[in-house]
Amino acid sequence: MEPKKFALNDIVEMKKQHPCGTNKWKIIRMGADVRIKCEGCQHSVMIPRREFEKKMKKVLISVNESN
Ligand SMILES: [Zn+2]
Repeated sequence: MEPKKFALNDIVEMKKQHPCGTNKWKIIRMGADVRIKCEGCQHSVMIPRREFEKKMKKVLISVNESN
């Protein structure tokens, strides 16, 4: 499996969708922990980076594609 690339402000899909029915999350903070915000209900969660990498399915929209 190739390593996942993600960056601040990317929109990602998780393996498990949020209970509100949306599976689009925006990365709003990056560090040892990653904070993502549900695009459906604006709820945000903080996940340890390693766990985030495991739970993230794919990047839907990458804001830094040109870099
Ligand atoms: Zn939600």
